[in-house]
Amino acid sequence: MTDWIADEVEALFPQLVSWRRELHRYPESGWTEYRTSAFIASKLREWGWKVYLGREAVEPSARYGVPESEYLHECEQRAIAEGVNPEEMELMQGGFTGVVAEWVTGRPGPVTALRFDIDSNEIEEAEDIDHSPAREGYRSCHLGLMHACGHDGHTAIGLGLARLLSQNEDNLAVAGIIRLLFQPSEEGSRGALAMVEKGWLEDVDCFLGGHIGFGAEHLGEIVLNATHFYATTKWDALLRGQAAHAGREPEKGKNALLAAATAVLNLHAITQHSDGVSRLNVGRLSAGSGRNIIPAEAWLQLETRGETEEVNSYLSQEAERILRAAAQMYDLDLEIKKMGEAVSAVGSMVWDGLRRQALAHGNRIELIRDSLALGASEDVTLMINKVQEHDGLASYFLFGTPVKYGHHHQGFDFDEKVLAIALEGLARVVGELNRSVP
Ligand SMILES: [Zn+2]
Repeated sequence: MTDWIADEVEALFPQLVSWRRELHRYPESGWTEYRTSAFIASKLREWGWKVYLGREAVEPSARYGVPESEYLHECEQRAIAEGVNPEEMELMQGGFTGVVAEWVTGRPGPVTALRFDIDSNEIEEAEDIDHSPAREGYRSCHLGLMHACGHDGHTAIGLGLARLLSQNEDNLAVAGIIRLLFQPSEEGSRGALAMVEKGWLEDVDCFLGGHIGFGAEHLGEIVLNATHFYATTKWDALLRGQAAHAGREPEKGKNALLAAATAVLNLHAITQHSDGVSRLNVGRLSAGSGRNIIPAEAWLQLETRGETEEVNSYLSQEAERILRAAAQMYDLDLEIKKMGEAVSAVGSMVWDGLRRQALAHGNRIELIRDSLALGASEDVTLMINKVQEHDGLASYFLFGTPVKYGHHHQGFDFDEKVLAIALEGLARVVGELNRSVP
């Protein structure tokens, strides 16, 4: 059986693929998604959406982990060289990325928000011909950056939905307010809070997010609720001591490297919590300046994750205590900075029936599952909780696709057919909401 949604998705599919490939070729990491944001904004404007770009979309003081200004500047210059016009850049300069698109239909209906993350990872992309972006000529042209989590796909799905909605207003009986959140800086759990604090979730009745892959492996499979979102906190710690000549007067130094090494071993030895899964990782450590100098500075990047917020805050507190103790042991100054955060969340179950029913009409949708454990962190949870706080409905889909290698791998790739499947799923659910939710 075919119907108009299936036909529309079919017609949009080549564009979904070409948008995804374009985005894939120009990956940008958290708070530097200048070209990506401008690309999204220009399409949405063309299709009649009211667009909020950069500073208009995110709350400046609620941005976690904004890169150093030198790096931001470099990325801004690159984006301008790649075609971003200077007026648009003014709205984004200084690490203000992301786009919100809104359509106030004027007809009574729910406020529906959908979130798509847009940032890339800091990985050098695979070059071998097994890797389709390399083979087909859309491999990343930005050194050390790659879309290795599928956010290029998420962005393309969001654009597809915007296009489908705007050209089928009557068919879909679109009502209420539709708001599309193209969120920057999901990696490292840095960007969601800035959209929450800007107020975009305050009045939302129905909220949907989702991810391709992540354990959903079959094309045509949609999972209604990802579960087991781990609460997480990201920290940077800087230990500051005193340099000294390592041969002549080592006693005058205060050794930040030794303190950092002591801290790392003890951080990884924090006792497990009985309430659930706990994780801690020190992912980066750099210290010292030369062979014959007592190391004056050390810098650590670490993260904690917990199955519940209690477990995560237990880990965070213990981590802080250990860092302070190590600093004290070596008589150093310590600076700790929170760089990102996500909480745990549980999707709203009460609309599972409605969503399942909507998806059941999907031509491309072969299997609808109730839930699947994510076992990772996602700052979308801040949005989910915000919406549920005022009794709104919020859930997070998984869209099945085989993935070559895992997420965050240099050879990560997915089956582009999932773009059409996700678009069809979201369009059907949005259509159903307009009929069902007052
Ligand atoms: Zn991701």
